[in-house]
Amino acid sequence: MSLKKPSETEEEYFARINAEKQRKLAHDKGKSMVTEEREQLKRLHFMHCPKCGMELQAVSFRGIQIDKCYYCNGTWLDEGELEHLAGKEPGFLQSIIGVFKGD
Ligand SMILES: [Zn+2]
Repeated sequence: MSLKKPSETEEEYFARINAEKQRKLAHDKGKSMVTEEREQLKRLHFMHCPKCGMELQAVSFRGIQIDKCYYCNGTWLDEGELEHLAGKEPGFLQSIIGVFKGD
């Protein structure tokens, strides 16, 4: 926000302050709408198969929770679970992890 200029009337000053306030409110609302859309997507898709859309069942296996679709027989892992299953030994799973590893 810039300092009040000498030529600026009190009315202009308050109009500008109000406009800045409204602009900030509009931007905040825009940001929260994106968050709301994300929340809506999560509500719609959480624990549903990404391939066929049927409900996933959580199955515990070797200390991790596998999400299983008993309709299309797909098997899904959360972040970090593939790494846990792969262990430290070099092999096929370690190769996959190497391909998709970020940063
Ligand atoms: Zn499925």
